[in-house]
Amino acid sequence: MAEVIPHRLTMQRGRKLLDYRARLIRTQFGSGVRPVAVDLRNGLQGRGTCLGCHDAPCMEYAADELAMPTVFQSFPGDPSNSTCPTQAIRWSELLDHPQVSSEACIGCGICISRCPYGAISLGDDGVARVEATDPDNLTRPTAAAESARPHAQASRDGQIAPIAFYTMRRTRQTLEELDSQESSLLVRNLLIECGIKCRIRRRGDTNLRMDGLIATSADQIGVLEIELGNAALESPRSLLEDVAVIHGRHKIDIHQLELLSVLSALPNARSEYYQVISDIRKVLSLQCRTITVGALLVLLWTFSRIQALPVNSFVVSSSNKTLFNDMHHYLGQSLQYQEPYPGAYRPLK
Ligand code: SF4
Ligand code: SF4
Repeated sequence: MAEVIPHRLTMQRGRKLLDYRARLIRTQFGSGVRPVAVDLRNGLQGRGTCLGCHDAPCMEYAADELAMPTVFQSFPGDPSNSTCPTQAIRWSELLDHPQVSSEACIGCGICISRCPYGAISLGDDGVARVEATDPDNLTRPTAAAESARPHAQASRDGQIAPIAFYTMRRTRQTLEELDSQESSLLVRNLLIECGIKCRIRRRGDTNLRMDGLIATSADQIGVLEIELGNAALESPRSLLEDVAVIHGRHKIDIHQLELLSVLSALPNARSEYYQVISDIRKVLSLQCRTITVGALLVLLWTFSRIQALPVNSFVVSSSNKTLFNDMHHYLGQSLQYQEPYPGAYRPLK
């Protein structure tokens, strides 16, 4: 039986390596749910294909992508460098390219977004597929040294999938079925892909209750709580505990910390959640932000990046219970109201 190789350092040396025949200048995702098209500098066009790259960014994060600011270095984070929250993308030693397990794939699009060569697309069954046949003869064999060069930076058009419930249904249905490790990895990886550095708690660590830490490229640092079940109300309370712990252990002023909850869906409009957030702001001058997995997925699918968390962004409260304004900022008016699933941008009924 072929060995399944989930990590690049164990990959067989001397396997077949490919390169495009000319520099890749553009990947075209169209409106999603079809194979990605690529444009090469020599005018060739065709279907994107897997080059079998040396570091397989579709499967793994490099160390610098998981690095956190010095002040958080001692946080005992989960060491996993897997990009796929469910380990659905794997590489067999018998193949020159990775493969996706249709049973395990939840259609999040992370591997698709990370492939620099337009080789992965989301099928209309909500499962990612790696194109490895090169139907348009765009590739040629290359040497290992060439293949290890930094990846091409091509422009990207379109989006990974339409923002509609039918493409998101597989992910939405699966959110509540993920185990805690998979939920945490999904949120960590979505945040990283959307431009926010993140470290999640190591599995089984009982000394620390907080779910994770975040950092932005605007030098913001903060605490993270993840609640993909029905206990959203616990989240702001846990964030306050996290702030106390970080202040106590690292002597960081609590007002320098960002507080972020990631939920599967915004709670019902009558939930106390919104009032608790307003109360925390009024009494402690702390701003709790909320973002849903659905909103993060849409940001990922449209190649939007957060980079920084301006004042009042992703803040729901008793006076504003939706994420429409935030999504408008990143997506514009045409996509602002296209909720990928109920609860992603506005409270559940
Ligand atoms: S799918 Fe993309 S990132 Fe992954 S090995 Fe192939 S070309 Fe590289
Ligand atoms: S789409 Fe998401 S779940 Fe599916 S293989 Fe890619 S990273 Fe894994």
